[in-house]
Amino acid sequence: MIPKSHPRYESLLLRDKMVKASKEGYLADSALIAHGRGEAFDYLIGEKTTYPAKRAMYVAVAALLLSNNPVISVNGNATALAIDEIIEFANAINAKIEINLFYKTNERVKIITKLYEDHGYRNILGGLDDDIEYINDIENNRASASKNGIYTADTILIPLEDGDRAEILKKSGKNILTIDLNPLSRTSKMSDVSIMDNIVRAIPFMTQIANDLKTQDKKILVELVNEFDNEENLKESLEQIKVKE
Ligand code: ATP
Ligand code: MG
Repeated sequence: MIPKSHPRYESLLLRDKMVKASKEGYLADSALIAHGRGEAFDYLIGEKTTYPAKRAMYVAVAALLLSNNPVISVNGNATALAIDEIIEFANAINAKIEINLFYKTNERVKIITKLYEDHGYRNILGGLDDDIEYINDIENNRASASKNGIYTADTILIPLEDGDRAEILKKSGKNILTIDLNPLSRTSKMSDVSIMDNIVRAIPFMTQIANDLKTQDKKILVELVNEFDNEENLKESLEQIKVKE
């Protein structure tokens, strides 16, 4: 048990979740390393949600609410850290959830499918018997997508995504939103909206935003999306990283 008074309490809890998920067999070998990279950036922003991240979250939620077929892409890390929060958010914005693994194995897809079912979500896409297509005919796991999900989606939220896959999705003309603690990653740079925040803080906050924006006029959502400049917002995000004490 980690005492609540420990200065790294929250961070250690997340590590525990990752270790547990790793033991349960649904994380890729490099998943813990990816988590560590995220942790380092989180440390540098004081493990708090910054203003540019909040602004990006409003825009991302507006874009999701305005789209016809929004999909949330999940991998092992996102599932390990925020499964219930992701399900709640998907329900709040009427989005589908699709499993997408960079290092895909049937075993990991099976475990993750069952986890979502056990947590009360029955319609997960990207499962073993789903119809899979290849984006732009790139016959590679990085381009695989569910026919009723990412393949036909107009807006996709890709938290903790790898740059290669983000690039394929971006090139296919879709609206790409990401949650990524590293504002310098290729995924952050390539996305239309990049939220520099920890997924465990971002998703619940986005559910709150969704409940607020859902009652607003559509015109306001369109304005939010149109006035946003991701490059500028990423610059501001980067300025939040403090290297001095
Ligand atoms: P890219 O391929 O986009 O250049 P990368 O190779 O640095 O990025 P990947 O391992 O491909 O990194 O993707 C994982 C990304 O997820 C990293 O940028 C990391 O900072 C981020 N990340 C890890 N844990 C979290 C978390 N809990 N919340 C948000 N982002 C996270
Ligand atoms: Mg990468």
